Amino acid sequence: MAKRSTSFLCQICGAVHARWQGRCDACGAWNSIAEETTAADTMPATLRGGRRGRLIALESLTGTSEDAPRVQVGISELDRVAGGGIVPGSVLLIGGDPGIGKSTLLIQASAKLASAGHRIIYVSGEEAVAQVRLRAERLGLSGAPVELAAETNVEDIVATLSEGRRPALVVIDSIQTMWTDTVESAPGTVTQVRSSAQILIRYAKRAGAAVILVGHVTKDGQIAGPRVVEHMVDAVLSFEGDGAHHFRILRAQKNRFGPTDEIGVFEMTGLGLAEVANPSALFLSNRDSGAPGTAVYAGMEGTRPVLVEIQALVVPTSLGTPRRAVVGWDPSRLSMVLAVLEARCGIKLGAHDVHLNVAGGFRISEPAADVAVAAALISSLSGAVLPPDGVYFGEVSLTGAVRAVPHAVARLKEAAKLGFTRAVAPAAKGTAANGRDAGEAPLAVDAISSLGDIVATIAAKGSRRSSDKAQEG
Ligand SMILES: [Zn+2]
Repeated sequence: MAKRSTSFLCQICGAVHARWQGRCDACGAWNSIAEETTAADTMPATLRGGRRGRLIALESLTGTSEDAPRVQVGISELDRVAGGGIVPGSVLLIGGDPGIGKSTLLIQASAKLASAGHRIIYVSGEEAVAQVRLRAERLGLSGAPVELAAETNVEDIVATLSEGRRPALVVIDSIQTMWTDTVESAPGTVTQVRSSAQILIRYAKRAGAAVILVGHVTKDGQIAGPRVVEHMVDAVLSFEGDGAHHFRILRAQKNRFGPTDEIGVFEMTGLGLAEVANPSALFLSNRDSGAPGTAVYAGMEGTRPVLVEIQALVVPTSLGTPRRAVVGWDPSRLSMVLAVLEARCGIKLGAHDVHLNVAGGFRISEPAADVAVAAALISSLSGAVLPPDGVYFGEVSLTGAVRAVPHAVARLKEAAKLGFTRAVAPAAKGTAANGRDAGEAPLAVDAISSLGDIVATIAAKGSRRSSDKAQEG
């Protein structure tokens, strides 16, 4: 005897509101709140009735517990992001824009595992079996013994999964198309997505099978976003990229079984997603090193160094409020670097538009890019071309000091591997200020301790264009 109740749920973050409103207070999204009818008591009768609990065994902190053996997919970019393979019984959510290649990646992973002798079940709620087959054929994977189904009812799916040999991996593409008998809302609503995910998670834990849920990220809030299930799953991976570029990045946002700062880099090819073993070479492939305003940043993503080009364009503004446009970096960090340049180095950019772009569509998540951004800005403003064989990294503090960042040696090594011969970097701990003791570093390090040092370095080495110099103020 389920009591009906109506609630207003944000389709993006799942927040419950007392009445309909145009904007969600919890996540700030506009027009994302929808009315949903839910059975008030979806709770099992045993819980409502105040069942007397069974006794559970308590254990001490010491003792042995074996590490969960992981299933290696064999796609090393995916295995590394997952924390060294997929843990049986765990549930992963892979989110991303529709059409970015999530299904392609998962079909490839499924085929790899199935060919290695694992039982793999791929359930598509988006496409008919014929379409999935066609995709697999295009990718040259039709020989792999993946078991396919086109189904959207979670009860039917779980009943099917429970038959026969336990699958090593179940792919649900996508969670937004799934629906369960237990709730009445339409598929794609928060209540349905959440309840369906709950049932699949319970299945994964009970059966010990790994489950990957695909979640589409939509900006218009038409269907519930993956955020409503993020806290329920063991790992959240996002698959990023844009139509203008061929590469895709798999990034761990949450992972109970591994680090969250690893990335996997793929390139979209005619035969599906190919692993990119050396992302730096890919990101630097179309460099225009003869122009002012570009600096190569030696970054780290997880355990891997990644070199990317940072482009800045500083031009006198024609507007009352100068523009600050950033692609691929945190806009508030750019504001900070601009403020520190003005306050500590006397470089005024208040009458200039500033455009900053990370080349290739890459997104930088570390503050260690501050120094490279500052160098690109100064280069663009002054018209001085930075030496093409140099890399930049370091974090800038509000005082104008440049702070050391982790993994300096790994960054320098990667730069040397790609043919760079000098680096502008903070004086690392244990190395002399002149950089001579950066023993392991295979390239010349200009050790800097403040933002002023960067300005001085560029002024000394760059070839200044006098016409631009006049506008510096
Ligand atoms: Zn919201």
